Amino acid sequence: MSRSERNFENTFQDYDGRTSLQSPDGKIAEPFLSRLKDETYKLLKQCEEGFQYTRDDRDYSVYTGSGGMAFLYMHLSETLFKDNEDQRQKYLKNSLRILEHDQHGLRGRRMTFVCGDPGILSSLAVLYSKLGQEDKSTKCLSKLLSLSDNVCGGDPSLPDEVLYGRAGYLFSLLFAQKHLGEEKIPHDIINQVCQVILDSGERLSRRERSNSPLMFMWHEKHYVGAAHGIVGIMFMLLQALSAQSVQSHLGSVESCVEFLLSKQFPSGNFPSSLESGTDKLIHWCHGAPGAVHLMIKAYQVFGKEKYLDAALKCGEVVWSHGLLKKGYGICHGVAGNAYTFLSLFKQTGDQKYLHRAIKFAEWCFDYGQHGCRTPDHPYSLFEGMAGTVYFLADLLEPKSSKFPAFEI
Ligand SMILES: [Zn+2]
Repeated sequence: MSRSERNFENTFQDYDGRTSLQSPDGKIAEPFLSRLKDETYKLLKQCEEGFQYTRDDRDYSVYTGSGGMAFLYMHLSETLFKDNEDQRQKYLKNSLRILEHDQHGLRGRRMTFVCGDPGILSSLAVLYSKLGQEDKSTKCLSKLLSLSDNVCGGDPSLPDEVLYGRAGYLFSLLFAQKHLGEEKIPHDIINQVCQVILDSGERLSRRERSNSPLMFMWHEKHYVGAAHGIVGIMFMLLQALSAQSVQSHLGSVESCVEFLLSKQFPSGNFPSSLESGTDKLIHWCHGAPGAVHLMIKAYQVFGKEKYLDAALKCGEVVWSHGLLKKGYGICHGVAGNAYTFLSLFKQTGDQKYLHRAIKFAEWCFDYGQHGCRTPDHPYSLFEGMAGTVYFLADLLEPKSSKFPAFEI
């Protein structure tokens, strides 16, 4: 399938450099702000109704299930409803109701934030703490921490990637640490999880005599992208920068990022795996919209212009080819791609990227009207409408935006 069969032509004008798009208080400027709020409310209402109608109690994942809706509600309490105390409380309680229900059904499946129990446990620990229920928060946290034995050795078949593997467990720890405080998560545990990931990467690199000192596989392929690949693993390790194991392997981490950089296509996109030489998928899960986050992080940590240049190139290919026919979601849709521009705006302050994020948001306002494919889980956080709402709410204050369940 060629590129044009995967994406719509982008006919939006690029930034003209004349209008200021942000107010001094950090919010998106009027008149777009009012329109953005209206459209977000409208889509949220549709999403809530759809979620109720299609809810599957067996799926509590953040990716396609009720955990994702709870995560969206928590996010809305900090964004869309930040200044409306009644609504803020209402959405925190909605989130709590879902997560408490999910907690009773945890089945010890999957060790990651996005697809498994750690997503529910760390979200609930944070939410209880926000609601002043510290005892309950501590209980959830200790359940989350007790999974580390399994992640660090109990299950040798566990992969390292973000969606199903150790890097996804690491995100759960970092998320809890950020919201509950440094002292609540033992440094040893974070350090050990990073160490196990690094050991695994070194082992495979040696076995394959790879050009990168760290190498990873999932399902017999060397995936590159954020969801299943090396990009996601490196990004998570760099978000755990203070861990001693990451510090002592920083040279290897940088060599691995340089190796990935050597795989960037002239278009600015990245391959989905080392086995694939074709420049086609432009999703957060596979391609430039995931890699941009790593390249910006690498620039912040290592201070070399080449990483920022690589990130800027990601911004170009996502702008020209990022209006996907797959839909409006976070994982492989327009909302996920729009986070490319939010990340570039946060890093550079260049209004061009804010303009581009706004244009992708405008595309999302016409949800369902472009003839895109309907995802299997149409209201979910990663495939469907909840992710689009999440992005629109994040755009209200672009400097505070963060790709859900991925950026700390
Ligand atoms: Zn995807």
